[in-house]
Amino acid sequence: MLDAEFFHRWMTTTAASVDREAARLTELDSAIGDADHGSNLQRGFTAVSAALGKEPPGTPGGVLTLAGRQLISTVGGASGPLYGTLLRRTGKALGDAPAVSADELARALGEGVAAVAQLGGAQAGDKTMLDALLPAVEALGTSFEAGRDAAQAGAEATVPLQARKGRASYLGERSIGHQDPGATSAALLIAALAETAAAAGGDA
Ligand code: ADP
Ligand code: MG
Repeated sequence: MLDAEFFHRWMTTTAASVDREAARLTELDSAIGDADHGSNLQRGFTAVSAALGKEPPGTPGGVLTLAGRQLISTVGGASGPLYGTLLRRTGKALGDAPAVSADELARALGEGVAAVAQLGGAQAGDKTMLDALLPAVEALGTSFEAGRDAAQAGAEATVPLQARKGRASYLGERSIGHQDPGATSAALLIAALAETAAAAGGDA
């Protein structure tokens, strides 16, 4: 079972990964956006780590709800509210259980991803974070590794797409040929989940 500590580690692992990859995320966003995606998420996940460190919530749902709230209040732009909604809605779906199964997490993430689609009005193939998140949620039903690989493949598959939502859509056909920054960071989030599960070994 996955407890609050597991979710806490997932968030700090994501923060470390975003720190490492911030320059690349910003570079991707400079091609089809406004060159702030790396710094946006770095600011957000730094705040998430700080808030969790200060008052660690006792449940998985509490960890994700607090993390989502931090992202909404510290990340400007499109991705803050969208990622914030993802984590808050996932946390809400987990309720106040002290620990949850991998299947319960996959189902809850499905609700979180649906909330992102509802808030942003995007669908699969619109060249957004959903192109990594939707296949990831599907594959997480099998294993964390399958989820990670599906998210990565989904992010890479955004390259030939034309953006239909967000800032990149203003570029029309010129958005083709570049990997979507939000799909790339979503793959980092899911990779951090798989990394956290692998580090937890048989406990997860
Ligand atoms: P901004 O575009 O406001 O500068 P960011 O650069 O932080 O925000 O994030 C851009 C990313 O947000 C995009 O690469 C895309 O994946 C995601 N995004 C933008 N609009 C939407 C939307 N309507 N639905 C889902 N994801 C979106
Ligand atoms: Mg941007």
